[in-house]
Order: sequence, then C-alpha cells, then structure tokens
Amino acid sequence: MRPIRRDPGRVRRALATLALVLALLPAAGGCGKEGSPPAKGPKPGKLPSYKAATTFRLPSSPTWRRAERRGHLTVGVKEDQPYLGEKDPATGRYSGFDIEIAKMMAASLGFKPSTIRFRTIASANRETALQNGQIDYYVGTYTINPLRKRQVGFAGPYYLAGQSLLVRTDEKDIHGPRDLAGKRVCSVAGSTPLQRIESDYPKAHAVAYDTYSVCVDNLLTFQVDAVTTDNVILLGYAAKAPKELKVAGRPFSKEPYGIGVPKRDNALRFALDDAIQAYERNGDWKKAYDATLGLSGVRAPKPPPIDRYRTG
Ligand code: GLU
Repeated sequence: MRPIRRDPGRVRRALATLALVLALLPAAGGCGKEGSPPAKGPKPGKLPSYKAATTFRLPSSPTWRRAERRGHLTVGVKEDQPYLGEKDPATGRYSGFDIEIAKMMAASLGFKPSTIRFRTIASANRETALQNGQIDYYVGTYTINPLRKRQVGFAGPYYLAGQSLLVRTDEKDIHGPRDLAGKRVCSVAGSTPLQRIESDYPKAHAVAYDTYSVCVDNLLTFQVDAVTTDNVILLGYAAKAPKELKVAGRPFSKEPYGIGVPKRDNALRFALDDAIQAYERNGDWKKAYDATLGLSGVRAPKPPPIDRYRTG
C-alpha cells in the first residue's frame, strides 16, 4: 500500500489559490458580504463629477433622439476588468476608467449619471448590440480597427493600450509571444488579441472564453500557461493578485480604445469626439485616470489624438 504523504504547504497553497479565484470571480456568491474588506478600487472622493449639459440638443442623431424620448441612456460596458469596468456584486454599481468615460459622454449629451443604465456586453457581442439598438454606445476596452469600422462607428480614441501577456509569478519561460509555442494561452472570443495569437503565433494553443476573468481563473488553477489581452486589463488583474500574477514582456500591438456607436450615426460620433477632447482639456480625463486605472501602477500618459474620420 502506498503511504499517504501529507504536504501541508501544498494544501495551504491550493486553498489560497481557491480563495483568490473566488475573490476574482465577478459574481461569486458570498462576495461583498457585510463586514468583508472592501476591494481595492477607484477612490470615489477623487473622481471628478460631471455636470450634465442642460441646453444640449442633438436632433440629427437618431440614437440621441431615442434616448431623449425614453429619458435614459443604455451604455454597454465590461464588468470584470479591474480599474476599467468593474461591477460590485453587492451593490450592482459599476466603476473604473471606462465607466468614467461613459459618464463624461453622458453628461456632454445632457444626461445625468443617474439616468445611465449600464449593461454588461462581452467582447464578441459588441457589434450586434450596437447594430440592433440594445445599447446607445459602448465603452469597454474596444479597439478601433478597419474591420470593426465596417460594422460600427468609433469616437476617439480616448486611450492607447497594447497587447501583452499575463503569467503566474513563478513562470520563467514566457517573456513574449514567441515563447508561447506549445503553451496554452487564454483569451476572449471576438477580441483582437485572440485573433492576433491565432494568425501570427499559430504554434501557441489558443483557448477562448467569453471573459478575461475566466481566463485568469484558468491561469491560477494551472489550466493555461498565460492569458493574453491588452496590457491595461492584465495590469489590473496583476495589481489585484501581485503574489500570484505578473505581466510578462512588453506590449506587442497598438490597441486604440474608441467609443462604439451605431454605424451611421455620425452626429453622435462627432459629438462624442468633441466631448472627449473637452474632457481631456479641462483635466477631468487625467483626474478620472488617476483615480481608477492609475491605481494599477501606470502613470497617466498623454491621450492619443482624436481621429475624426469621414465615411464615404
Ligand atoms: N481591445 C481588445 C479588443 O477590443 C481586447 C479587449 C477586449 O476584448 O475588450 O478586442
């Protein structure tokens, strides 16, 4: 008979990992119980407050007209991306840099923050949600690219990210995408990072889920070797679990973040372009960044120039 070996260290490590996985799951049961420590998140006192433009009208935008009639905006966002778009499972409240951008845009269109209805939409469903009117606009780490521009419109960019890799802290072999040959790497369906891995690094074993938090759980439980997406998303997860996770190597793509709008609504797109510029100039963009994304350890960069592109 094989003797039963006890390894308390291993058991402890497994339990710690399990606790972390539960903590990172956005809607895990039992989270946010009264008395549980608050998650490290945006500092509410440090966030700017945005004044809704009282006399603003945009009758040339069908999206704006509809929203005005119904009295609220529906905005598509993410709910599991630390410091960018996060939903508190206890209160249902959303926070993060993308959420702040969404609020700035709402104010510029004449809508108070209390009239915004946030709706979580996964990467793969963004274009359809905009096309079928489920949402008025989308703010959630949404890369502007020519392929997507055929289906939706983009205001911005309001931030420039780059694809990167997240690994466990004890990982020694993965420093860049070339090291992924023969390794399992997780990303999200319908995302540009997944497409890039599949097309440019075919020796990697790509695994796709609907959300990055599921990928991170897979990394923590040794089911994949890396997670790939934009550096800012990964830095957020690493900041939440610095003992277990780290970002490896340098960014290897350019991901300019835009606000997705219905394709033919140029009036809305240009109005949001103007709004982004105004909030960058009055300092609120930087203030919002410092209170949210800045917490994952990266200083506010200069925002990229707005691309007011014309459509034929
Ligand atoms: N920015 C990339 C994209 O739009 C990755 C992040 C995401 O999936 O939202 O596909």
